[in-house]
Amino acid sequence: MNLTFLGTSAGSPTAERNVSSMVLDLRQERGKLWLFDCGETTQMQMQKAKFSLAKLEIIFLTHLHGDHVFGLPGVLTSRSLMQNQSPLTLIAPKGIKQLVETVIEISYSWLTYPLNIIELEENGIVFEDNQFQVEAKLLKHRVPCFGYRIIEKDLPAQLDIDKLKQANIQAGSYYSDLKKGKTVTLDDGRIIRGVDYQSKVKKGKKLAILGDTIPCQASIELANDVDLLVHEATQENALKDKALERGHSTTIHAATIAKQAKAKRLIMTHISPRYSLNDNKKLVNEAKSVFVNTEIATDFASFHV
Ligand SMILES: [Zn+2]
Ligand SMILES: [Zn+2]
Repeated sequence: MNLTFLGTSAGSPTAERNVSSMVLDLRQERGKLWLFDCGETTQMQMQKAKFSLAKLEIIFLTHLHGDHVFGLPGVLTSRSLMQNQSPLTLIAPKGIKQLVETVIEISYSWLTYPLNIIELEENGIVFEDNQFQVEAKLLKHRVPCFGYRIIEKDLPAQLDIDKLKQANIQAGSYYSDLKKGKTVTLDDGRIIRGVDYQSKVKKGKKLAILGDTIPCQASIELANDVDLLVHEATQENALKDKALERGHSTTIHAATIAKQAKAKRLIMTHISPRYSLNDNKKLVNEAKSVFVNTEIATDFASFHV
């Protein structure tokens, strides 16, 4: 899977950074896209990055501050203009239902597809199927704000059909037993062990996408042992007091959470408009003093997980 940032600025956009939004590209895994946060202009950013609104399956919002939400009405209604009928799920803190219903009604808009809205009020599993599980936990911000832990389930071992054919073992009643790893006796007398003809279990990936927050225990739990952690880093370390006062983190905070959680990789985003792209190096170096495997997101940067 790939994670692509569509907006990386905190609060308001700059000439270099749009406001918060990112796409988890699961087209290879399930033919779908998941969107995390939906700041203003997200639909245009999606077009530039060649992500189709029709492929959106789930939109997760971390919280209802405008810089994470104001792009939502456009995304929802443009998806209808495409005559798209595939269902869409929206998972966000309580209040999102009222926001969406009010915007649709007042603007004389309508949706051509079923929209399933799940309002979050407490910690829990918010999505699960045979491929993925997503857990949400409340972080510490000025308003209710959630972080998400996305777990790709392990792909069970498959029968290696080519290897079976090479050994001249034909498809037949043996296959179901071999698939379970059992030992079978073939008609020709050969004794075959299923475990010798199975591919390896493919380990699933784990990532954590956290919303706006000061450092907290929930962040460490969500990011425990993940392959990739997305954490806000609104300010540099020198502005620590300002960051905390406004419910935000610094570069050092983000790096410390990554270290405490034993994450493998940290991507910092939600960067204050006070910083230009020229400041990236300085911000990354601050974080690296605590957690070496740190990068900073820029708009349209894509990370393979
Ligand atoms: Zn924000
Ligand atoms: Zn916020």
